[in-house]
Amino acid sequence: MADTECSTVKTTCPYCGVGCGISVSKDTEAGFKISGDMAHPANKGLLCSKGAALADTLGRKGRLLAPEINRKSVEWETALNKIATGFQEIIDIYGPDAVAFYVSGQLLTEDYYVANKLMKGFIGAANIDTNSRLCMSSSVAGHKRAFGSDTVPGCYEDLELADLVVLTGSNAAWCHPVLYQRLVAAKTTRPNMKVIVIDPRQTATSDCADLHLPIKPGTDAVLFNGLLTHLKKQQKFDDHFTNKFCDGLDATVATAEATAPNVEFVANVCCLDAKDVLEFYAYFEKTEKAMTLYSQGINQSSSGTDKVNSILNCHLVTGRIGRPGMGPFSLTGQPNAMGGREVGGLANQLAAHMEIDNSDHRELVQKFWQSPTIACKPGLAAVDLFDAVYAGDVKAIWIMGTNPAVSMPNNSRVRQALKKCKMVVVSDCEQNTDTADFADVLLPALAWGEKDGTVTNSERRISRQRPFVPAPRNAKPDWWIISEVAKRLGHVSAFKYQSSAEIFREHALLSGHQNNATRDFDISSLSTLTQSEYDDLAPIQWPVTDEQPKGTARLLGTGAFFTPGKKAVLVPVSPQPPEHLPTPEYPLILNTGRIRDQWHTMTRTGKSGILSAHRPEPYAEIHPIDAKLSKIRDRELITLETLWGKMVARATISPYQKQGSIFVPIHWNDQYASNGLVDALVSPATDPISKQPEFKYTPVAIRRF
Ligand code: SF4
Repeated sequence: MADTECSTVKTTCPYCGVGCGISVSKDTEAGFKISGDMAHPANKGLLCSKGAALADTLGRKGRLLAPEINRKSVEWETALNKIATGFQEIIDIYGPDAVAFYVSGQLLTEDYYVANKLMKGFIGAANIDTNSRLCMSSSVAGHKRAFGSDTVPGCYEDLELADLVVLTGSNAAWCHPVLYQRLVAAKTTRPNMKVIVIDPRQTATSDCADLHLPIKPGTDAVLFNGLLTHLKKQQKFDDHFTNKFCDGLDATVATAEATAPNVEFVANVCCLDAKDVLEFYAYFEKTEKAMTLYSQGINQSSSGTDKVNSILNCHLVTGRIGRPGMGPFSLTGQPNAMGGREVGGLANQLAAHMEIDNSDHRELVQKFWQSPTIACKPGLAAVDLFDAVYAGDVKAIWIMGTNPAVSMPNNSRVRQALKKCKMVVVSDCEQNTDTADFADVLLPALAWGEKDGTVTNSERRISRQRPFVPAPRNAKPDWWIISEVAKRLGHVSAFKYQSSAEIFREHALLSGHQNNATRDFDISSLSTLTQSEYDDLAPIQWPVTDEQPKGTARLLGTGAFFTPGKKAVLVPVSPQPPEHLPTPEYPLILNTGRIRDQWHTMTRTGKSGILSAHRPEPYAEIHPIDAKLSKIRDRELITLETLWGKMVARATISPYQKQGSIFVPIHWNDQYASNGLVDALVSPATDPISKQPEFKYTPVAIRRF
């Protein structure tokens, strides 16, 4: 929405899943003035340090300004023809499964939609996966097992209405800062609100906690099974809700009782004080308005899906879901991880929350797209995808808006895979990312501030990203680039898009096609937006239908689930240990995560001096006892080594770190610290259901540098 009088453009932050609204105005001295959009329901004018520093990251420095083949500038026509020819040759010889797209939660929904349509409906394979696999696929899988749909039941307002907020596996103060600010403000207004933080580390988030449980890494499912056992003992189940709306109660309770029979047992397994465990259970037991927020500490595990279900189980048995101030809530990592899910951006999904393994869904989508084919089996998820590239089974890969040479677990192998790959295409706005170094063809995409489209945040709220700076002449929208390749592959009429609004309308129309009663995702009443209505679209939470034209804040509270039987499924969870456990050679546990002032692999935030000053170099937080045992002094350079790789980091000795566990941030890339890439160390173990990697648990050794 451009206000020409004051030259203000309202857009959405490109970083985390909070999805804050931003007002941008021209500032003659400093370029652009960035402030929080007071009218955006996600942030109500608030911004965190990263959002506030966005103006520092604008500009052409480091931008990719023309297509390149083998690092030589070429015309668009030449680059697009080379990609189409290369992909087609490989498809003709080896079949459609020999090519792949690896996309990003940074893409806009419209870009994501077009990429997914090309791969699944026109190339005819499902080898399109996304970096969102790394951050929230366990939540998706857990939601689908329990609800029959990937539905976030609540909204941010619930945090402010809750009497108990449990944060588990989430350092929201640093990773979802504006939401955390809203929580702190609510607690200040209502001091009786209780906050419980479950995290091996004592983080900034613990500052507002009434109770911090420094749980032993990997034992979360035991803690939540214990809560279920406790709720059963205390007769706190909502019998009406479970009888009417849930399946699987008896088996789930029996498994919980067998694996977490009492508080003492749980405290022992989770290395917690029994008094603290009981206090947590007692708060949950007596507080109707209870929310459980969870993030990567739960998801990034080889049993992440089970951990998610152990949380969902506790909310379902108490009927505390989808009503004001209560429910489980997955904090999405990226600005558009949710939008990617909506269009089927994971290798096991179809568009509009439909399923590849459902023949009715395949038929519906193929008919809607009028496509020559449709993927009929799930494609390869991220880790398997790069393994297939390494093995030579996938011979061409197109990477869009992400930097897997830094961000993937065991990234040295990913680099080897890209080096061996017959054709690597990279679309990015930056010229010199670590992944761009492996590109045969490099394509200049639009950056934040130039892009025009939509994103969806953690509370299902669709918001507009609007352009406010002119794009470099040769940079193009991702949807345009994908469509031009699609046309050169022979699919002209299906990809003759002229605008992001046109793509959004098609996506919205598909979402409402025929089956609204069986799927949660429906924005069909947005399918007739004119260009100016799309331009002016205010933030809105899906579903958006004729019945709910202003969007929907909460779902599932009335027991309307999307399973075949229309009931929620309680999932028996047998807690599993992490895939790789410490050994005498690698005695400690490597835990990775974000820091407050950097985003992903620093290709944008690294440009801001203010943000980089927060933590200027790779570091490893080590408990004083582990430091002493390893003969490490504070601020000393150390080498960290795992079975998969090594890195150099600055030792930071901290009593807030859990003994036995080391925390290392994920962000540094080759440009800023070539021997400081932590994901070179991370085990490629994944959850067998969600395929999400285990970023939070890799056995590691400290060596003197
Ligand atoms: Fe951006 Fe997230 Fe900060 Fe909001 S909280 S300003 S979305 S990084």
